[in-house]
Amino acid sequence: MEFVEQLKSSVDIVRTIGEYVRLKKAGGSSRYTGLCPFHNEKTPSFSVNPIHQRFKCFGCGVGGDVIEFIMQIDRLTFFEALKLLAERNGIAMPKREYADADSRLRAALLEMHEMAAALFQSNLSGTGGADARAYLAGRGVPQEDLDTFALGLSDSGGQQLFRRIDQTRFPPEVLEQSGLVMKRQEGGGFYDRFRGRLMFPIHDHSGKTIAFGGRALRAGDEPKYLNSPETRLYHKTYVLYNLHRAKDAIRKLDYSILVEGYMDVIGVYSAGIRNVVASCGTALTNTQVRTLKQHSERIVVNFDPDAAGSNATEKYMQLLLDEGMTVRVLELDRNLDPDEYIKELGVDAYRARLEKAPSYFHWLADRARKKFDIHTVEGRIQGFKFVAPSIERVPDRLERFAIANDIAGYLGVDAHMVRDHFSRNQKAANRPASRGPVVPPNERLLLNSLLASELARMQVIPHLSEMSVIERFTTRNVFRAIFTLHHDQVSFRFSDLEGRLEDADRDLLSAVVFADDIIEEQDALAQAVACLESLRAQEPKSEMAELRARVQTAEREGNLEEALRLADELNRRSRR
Ligand SMILES: [Zn+2]
Repeated sequence: MEFVEQLKSSVDIVRTIGEYVRLKKAGGSSRYTGLCPFHNEKTPSFSVNPIHQRFKCFGCGVGGDVIEFIMQIDRLTFFEALKLLAERNGIAMPKREYADADSRLRAALLEMHEMAAALFQSNLSGTGGADARAYLAGRGVPQEDLDTFALGLSDSGGQQLFRRIDQTRFPPEVLEQSGLVMKRQEGGGFYDRFRGRLMFPIHDHSGKTIAFGGRALRAGDEPKYLNSPETRLYHKTYVLYNLHRAKDAIRKLDYSILVEGYMDVIGVYSAGIRNVVASCGTALTNTQVRTLKQHSERIVVNFDPDAAGSNATEKYMQLLLDEGMTVRVLELDRNLDPDEYIKELGVDAYRARLEKAPSYFHWLADRARKKFDIHTVEGRIQGFKFVAPSIERVPDRLERFAIANDIAGYLGVDAHMVRDHFSRNQKAANRPASRGPVVPPNERLLLNSLLASELARMQVIPHLSEMSVIERFTTRNVFRAIFTLHHDQVSFRFSDLEGRLEDADRDLLSAVVFADDIIEEQDALAQAVACLESLRAQEPKSEMAELRARVQTAEREGNLEEALRLADELNRRSRR
């Protein structure tokens, strides 16, 4: 698979992964680190090594090359990941069809969604779209936003979309899996799922249409919002509405705004506040939160005023806290949702509210103030107990105490009581994420220099492979694999090396490659030679140490003859 190697070497792994994870350069090293997108963590154990083009998380263990990253994070097959990377980097795929059945299905579904989006858009701008356009104008959505959000209209007859996609010869089983048309119960044939609805295309991370939300336009049409079902393209628990447009702003401003509906997103976004997303007609899920967290850990939740304090809202906030998000709450007055608020009071008023939005705990404390009489000691204690269970769920211990003290102060509760409460209720402290196996520095440096330069390998391996000290290395299997590869071929690839290793040794290799040693190719030879010299100096010493140990073992086991023989040998050597 020459193309695969060619692709991997021409794709910038730091830039590619950086699209999904906020990466920082690890101090004084060529490596980058960030919070792992595959598990929940507070301190980064996720690393990217641009030299070897690998990523690795020492918390949950995932790792691999750039294709494997894309496969895992976008839940794609190998071929899809390959195609996506090729497309994004303007690299032509070879003529030979790189496709399996699953990729072909996805490609067909994507094509149908593209056709549907175009059809819906042309319906909305056509003569039949007058009512829908009037509705949108009534909600204050300008023409520009219709285009930005690719809003559309589904035909009310129930056959238009089916006819359009049927003409392109998709087999019936593929049509059925699209979620766009439905099979008739009787008499065969298909009809459109969405009929006479205002259509909101839902996009994936890269901006491809993968589903639709449809809003009823006629009074009495139920349900008010109808969404695409789960398909091979659309996993609703993963997707956030508008994320592909909002993600750059979320990173830049370092927070996201979570609103409830499509219209809220459109209202806020088109007023110039770009870091806004919504969950797509489902309750918020932890996978959605993790997706958001890849861009920023801070979030402002803009509640529907009716929902504040409801069970659903509480669950939702706990979910955010459990995932380690820093949450603020924006509750708008006068029962307005964000879209209406901006239309009535202007974007500056909304922005001001946004900036002043209290932390979740202060917001809860405010609710406690209303609920209990905090002019009395009992009332203040009750108030604190109302907030405490949420504070207890903050994963980080120090942060938990800081918040508890802050809120206690805010409610006028005695600090001692807070300490008591929390020492009684303290949950087990989070164990720090494991950083993987430990490799002694000399082995690490030597391995890194050998990996960095072919010249170093050519000069050093012939000597190194003769030395017995290697056999005592933690990483001896990695060295042996390098020797074999070096012997077999002139140039070797990192993936070939990995392929020769068992899991445990592969972990050791990761620990080496993701350590903070910087070895530039031009320094690698000198570094490798220095390591070799120091090993040589150690070698007789370590052989002596081994002999000494064997003497002791023989003595302990009562094998005096053997002990004497070894002691003799030891004497002879130390005289040399
Ligand atoms: Zn991880």
